[in-house]
Formats: sequence, C-alpha cells, structure tokens
Amino acid sequence: LLKVERLRKSFGDHEVLSGIDLSVNEGDVTCIVGPSGSGKSTLLRCLNHLEKPTGGAIFLQGEPVGVRWRGDRLYEMSFNEMARQRQKMGMVFQGFHLFPHKTALQNITEAPIIVKGTPRHQAEAEGMALLEKVGMPDRAHYYPRQLSGGQQQRVAIARSLAMKPALLLFDEPTSALDPELVGEVLAAMRQLAEEGMTMLVVTHEMLFARDVADHLIFMEGGVIVEQGNPREIMTSPRHERTREFLARVL
Ligand code: ATP
Ligand code: MG
Repeated sequence: LLKVERLRKSFGDHEVLSGIDLSVNEGDVTCIVGPSGSGKSTLLRCLNHLEKPTGGAIFLQGEPVGVRWRGDRLYEMSFNEMARQRQKMGMVFQGFHLFPHKTALQNITEAPIIVKGTPRHQAEAEGMALLEKVGMPDRAHYYPRQLSGGQQQRVAIARSLAMKPALLLFDEPTSALDPELVGEVLAAMRQLAEEGMTMLVVTHEMLFARDVADHLIFMEGGVIVEQGNPREIMTSPRHERTREFLARVL
C-alpha cells in the first residue's frame, strides 16, 4: 500500500532524514518510536507532502506521491492533484486541530461536503456512524470546548475517517492528553486496527505498540535503526541504541 525508498529530507544543511526505506501492507499497523528529534514527525509530514522531500521516492497504492510522470519525465504535482492525493492519507495530530466554532458532527461532515461534494444528509448519516464508532454518538452537537481532550481527539479521528482514507497517519495522538484520557483514545485506535484500517502511528505508548502493532520501527538520528516484530524487538533488541532507548521508555 505504501512504499518509501531512500527518503531524505534536509532543512538547509541539516539532514533530518538520511535514507528511510519502509513499506506498509494493507491492514498493517506500524508503530514508529524513537527519541525526540529523530525525525519521526518529519517522516510523516513527508509522506503526505506537508514537507517536500529532498530525495528518494514515496509510492501510495503504486502511485508516486507528490510527483507525476508525463511521458518519461517526472513533474511536481499541481496543488489540486496533491490535495486529491493527500485525501488518501488521513492525519491525526497531537493537538486535535478541530474547528472551534463547529460542532463535533460539523467537524466531521465539513470535508466530505465541501471537498467531495457528498450530499449533506449522507455526510451526516456517515458522520453519526463514525461518532458511534469512536464511542460518542451522544456528543454530536457539542462544540470542541465542551469536550474533553480525549473526546476531541476521538472526533479528530472520526473526522479523518470521514474522508475514507487508504491510510491513517498518527503523530503522537495521545501525548497532549491527561493520563486518564489516554486509554479511551488508544481503545478507539485499537478498534480501528482490528477492523483492518492501515495505520502508521508515531507514539510513546510502548504497550500499545507491543499489543496492537504488526510492525515496530525504531528511529534515531534520521535513520531506521531497527524494525520488525514489536515483541521480538522489545524483548531482544539487536542494536545497542535500541536497547538504550527501550531501557529508558519501558
Ligand atoms: P519529537 O519526538 O520531539 O516530536 P521528532 O522525532 O518528531 O521529535 P522532528 O520533529 O521530525 O523530530 O524533527 C527532527 C529534526 O528536524 C529536529 O532537529 C528539528 O529541529 C528539525 N526540524 C523539524 N522541522 C523543521 C523545520 N521546519 N525547519 C528546520 N528544522 C526542522
Ligand atoms: Mg514529533
């Protein structure tokens, strides 16, 4: 579903990603862990071209991301083409980024109605089903300020799902939450995983990574140091740097 080859990204002469290779199969849950500054967020932002990579290639469903072949030459995509492609990758951030002046349901139906032209009644019916899925059908008409952080994040997840993405990217979705609210968001994510959603999750929640992920990636200094089965990596890391990191977070 997603393939990344020799991906590089520099800001000025500071190289943040130094050749990332990874692939994600349909239905996979991949967790990315690593110390602060290792390039995890930059990687996610490159995947959906919120950042333009300096080198390498990304393919989503076999199509190059951000660029298009015309004859035998590669061109940068137009803004519209890129927007259409970005819809295939939903993104959930640490700070929920809901529209403050719209209700939970309006937050969810906005993009389907405006961007996809979905009829309002259909978008609302689908939105209600998504609110049900994240466990809050009774909060449809609440505004974000009337919701807890955990509830806001679950609305943000439902909003991403409303665009029917092929892949959901999460960047530390629970890091901004009070500890007692983390569980409900992880539970919603776990349910999505069980339903077969393809997910790439940057997280510090090692238990979630161990129990839910099919694949674990440990990044440091802009490279993937180690990747594989989460349990194997957590019980017997092959690299010293992975071992040191795990000793700090487990
Ligand atoms: P954290 O766990 O703290 O979120 P991270 O692994 O997500 O860290 P990134 O946010 O990807 O790390 O940042 C990696 C490096 O890239 C950092 O050194 C950061 O300062 C640098 N960086 C990120 N974005 C930019 C930018 N827009 N301009 C310049 N440098 C940047
Ligand atoms: Mg980050």
